[in-house]
Amino acid sequence: MHPAEPVDLLITPRWMIPVEPHAVTLEDHAVAVRNGRIVAVCPRAEAETRFAPAEREDLPDHVLIPGLVNLHTHAAMTLMRGIADDLPLMRWLQEAIWPAEAKHANAEFVRDGTLLAAIEMLRGGITCANDMYFYPDAAAEAFSRIGMRAVIGMTVIEFPTGYASDADDYLRKGLAARDRWRDEPLVRFAFAPHAPYTVSDTSFEHIVQLAHELGCPVHMHLHETAQEIDDSIARYGQRPLARMERLGLLDTDFIAVHAVHLDLHEIETLAAHNCSIAHCPTSNMKLASGVAPTRAMLARGLRVGLGTDGAASNNRLDLFQEMRHAALLAKVTSSDAAAFDVHDALRSATLAGAEALRMDGEIGSIVAGKAADLVAVSLSSPECSPCFSPASHIVYAAGREHVTHVWVDGKPRTRDNTVLWEHNKELLQCVRVWQTFLKESASSQ
Ligand SMILES: [Zn+2]
Repeated sequence: MHPAEPVDLLITPRWMIPVEPHAVTLEDHAVAVRNGRIVAVCPRAEAETRFAPAEREDLPDHVLIPGLVNLHTHAAMTLMRGIADDLPLMRWLQEAIWPAEAKHANAEFVRDGTLLAAIEMLRGGITCANDMYFYPDAAAEAFSRIGMRAVIGMTVIEFPTGYASDADDYLRKGLAARDRWRDEPLVRFAFAPHAPYTVSDTSFEHIVQLAHELGCPVHMHLHETAQEIDDSIARYGQRPLARMERLGLLDTDFIAVHAVHLDLHEIETLAAHNCSIAHCPTSNMKLASGVAPTRAMLARGLRVGLGTDGAASNNRLDLFQEMRHAALLAKVTSSDAAAFDVHDALRSATLAGAEALRMDGEIGSIVAGKAADLVAVSLSSPECSPCFSPASHIVYAAGREHVTHVWVDGKPRTRDNTVLWEHNKELLQCVRVWQTFLKESASSQ
């Protein structure tokens, strides 16, 4: 008999949904982890003889799923959660968000807001976020302090802010931050031009060239509102997507955020270019932007990941909520109860997001060789009983409050819904100070 193979951790959950292969739920299986990597996914009985774990985590009432991937957020905007509700996008931006940002958004604001977002996301089983905001160094610092994976946006917008003066300045600063964080394994960078209506053709051409040179994905709001499309036709004689195709943006690893207003030809164009969608159903509902045609997207092989958008337009960074909303909206708008089923929802919140970020070799499913980004959800509470199908519960019955354990890169990050970080209390005190500042400036307008 061979001696047992040493591993750092053996997790034995009641159920496991690895996401790869698709629509499979395993019972009485185990995950072995060594040096932050998944070494094996195998039946529990086999794992017991094959491995000698230094630590074990027995999860008798839990389902283990891959860490959730939030494909679109503005993490630091947690500090503006609930500052202005019930307004349409352009009024919300112009009357509430942009003035508050002009006054307050600095490196400290971004660091503290991103810390708050990272804590909220980890507690809800999100282990990787694709972020778009200003002060990328401050955001990278926050995510790496908490130990969460992130793709930091190198934001580009034509108008000046406290952070940068023009599009070239944004790009220069974003690229310099990317260089500084080169050696941090949890942090990557992507280009994040804000939207077609805030970025010029010249800047897009520059971004396309750099994205090809550096192999970075490009992440941008697109076709969020009907107004955006009308304005583009008036200004450029083209719908935004056609303009982006002309400028070569669709030939990058392009992630179209929202993509609410698309015709069939545009869905086919995005699929033909192997682009990805960051579907943000709650934000689209709250800002009354519309509903993205996800059933038609999936039918044409277009990759659909899920995003929360920022906490000022959601107001939760909660992918359990996004899975549920995505599933329900797809059904009600297509009159097809089979549209966006539970496994489509789970895949969107995990592997599809990882693929969009070109990180599916590392994360997105529970497969040997990938990083151990794992989430345990307890299904023992009354509201999750009985349990005929753990996948059904994840999408329709459970919530982020049922997340008990989160690992990133094999390291424990939460226990019993608390993030293992020694500064949780100080952070909340600090957030109260920001609240006072923001409230004073709002009432002085
Ligand atoms: Zn957004």
